Amino acid sequence: MYYYQSWSKTLIRLFLVLCIGVVVGMYIDNMLLALTCLFATLLLYNYAHLYRLTQWLWHSRAMSPPSAPGIWHHIYEGVYYLQRRNRNKRKSLGELVKRFREGSEALPDAVVVIDKQARILWCNRNARIELGLRWPDDNGRRIDNLIRHPKFIEFLESNDAHYPIEIPAPTNPHKTFEYRMMEYGDDQLLLIVRDVSRVSHLEEMRKDFVANVSHELKTPLTVINGYLEVLDTSTANLEGVPPIVAKAIEEMGTQTTRMQALIDDLLILSRIESSSERIFENVIDVDAMLKQIELEAMALNKEKSHKITFKVDGELNVFGVETELRSACSNLIFNAIHYTPANGRIEVIWKRKANGAFFAVRDNGDGIEEKHLRRLTERFYRVDKARSRKTGGSGLGLSIVKHVLHHHNASLEIESKVGKGSEFSFLLPPELIAQELSD
Ligand code: ADP
Repeated sequence: MYYYQSWSKTLIRLFLVLCIGVVVGMYIDNMLLALTCLFATLLLYNYAHLYRLTQWLWHSRAMSPPSAPGIWHHIYEGVYYLQRRNRNKRKSLGELVKRFREGSEALPDAVVVIDKQARILWCNRNARIELGLRWPDDNGRRIDNLIRHPKFIEFLESNDAHYPIEIPAPTNPHKTFEYRMMEYGDDQLLLIVRDVSRVSHLEEMRKDFVANVSHELKTPLTVINGYLEVLDTSTANLEGVPPIVAKAIEEMGTQTTRMQALIDDLLILSRIESSSERIFENVIDVDAMLKQIELEAMALNKEKSHKITFKVDGELNVFGVETELRSACSNLIFNAIHYTPANGRIEVIWKRKANGAFFAVRDNGDGIEEKHLRRLTERFYRVDKARSRKTGGSGLGLSIVKHVLHHHNASLEIESKVGKGSEFSFLLPPELIAQELSD
C-alpha cells in the first residue's frame, strides 16, 4: 500500500515539476531551455541519491539507512529489509552449524568429513586426539597422506567402502580402530572411526581358546581311539566276552570318531577364521579338485545310491586358497549326499557366468523349511539334531563354508523348498577368475 502511495506521490511531483517547467518555458518564451534545465536538475537529483545509496552500502558503518524523500526512501527501506533478512538467516544457519559441531564433538567416535578427492573438510575433537589430525592445519589435506595404512588406502580407493575395516590406530599400535564410511551431503563422505580394541581382543581370545582347546583335545582322543581299536580287534577274537562289553567298545569307538571329526572341523574353522593367506597368490585347478571330491563322494554314496552328476567347466580356474575351497565344495556335496533320501538326484555345477564363477549343488531331497534357512550357517545349528548326529555331522560344515566364501569375497546362497529339494550355491567375483593355469 505504502509502495503504491509513494509511487503516486512521486508521479504527481514529477507532473507538477513538468507543469512548472512548461509555465516557465512559456514565460521566458524558450520551452527547450526551460525543459532541458528541468531534466538536468532531475538527473542531478537522482544521481545524488544514487551516490548516497552506494556510500551507505559500501562505505558507511551505519546499519540504518539515511533518510530520503519519495521513492528513494522506499528503495533504502527495501535494501535495509533485505540486509536484515540475510543477517537473520546467517545467524540461524550459524546456530545450526554450531549445534551440529557441538553434537559431533560430544560423540564418542572420531568423525572426519572428507570430499570425493579424500581432502579433509572438517574433523571433530576425537579425530584430533585418536587419529592425530591437526585442526585447522590439516584442513584441505588428503586423509590418505595422514593415515598411511595400506588397508586404509585400499578401503578409501575401493568403490565399495560400505563394509567396515579394522586396523591398528595411527597414533597407538596397541589399539584397533574400526573405520566406516558413508556418503554425506553432496559429494562428501563421512568417516567414522571407533575404538574396537576390547572387542577385537575378546574375539582374538575366543579364537585362540577354541583353537587351543581343540588342539589339546586331539592328542588324548587319538590315544583313546588307538586303544579302542586294539580292544575292538582283540575282543572280537576272544570267546566269552560279555556282549555288553563288545557293544560298549563299539559305541565308544563311534563316539570318539565323532569327537575327532568335531575337533577336526573346529580346527579347520579356527584356521580359516584367522587365515591371512592371500587369495590372489595361487590359481586353483578346480576341475582336478572337483574330480578328487567326486571320487570321495562316490565312496560316500555307496549306501545311498544317489545319481550324482558333475557338470564342470574344465577351463574355468580361479584364484584362491585351495584347501579352503576344497573344504567348502566338499562340505556342500557331502551334505547333499547325507541329507537326501536314498536314490535321490544330485547335480554339481561349476560354470562361468557373466558376473563370476558359479558353483552349485542341487538335490531333490526333503528340502528345508524357510524358518531355518537364515540360521543354517550358524555354528552347531542343525535342522534335525538326531538326524545330523546319525550322519556324523558336527553342525559346523556350513559355518566353514560361510567363512571360506567370505575370505574369497563371496557369500553362500541357499534356496530350498520343502518336499522338492535344495540348492546351495555361491558366485566367486570375476576378478578371481584366472584365464590360464599358471605353471
Ligand atoms: P552338519 O555337520 O550337521 O551337516 P552343516 O552346517 O553342514 O552341519 O549343516 C547344517 C544343517 O543344514 C544340517 O544339520 C542339515 O539339517 C541342513 N542341511 C545342510 N545341507 C542340506 C541339504 N542338502 N539338504 C537338506 N538339509 C541340509
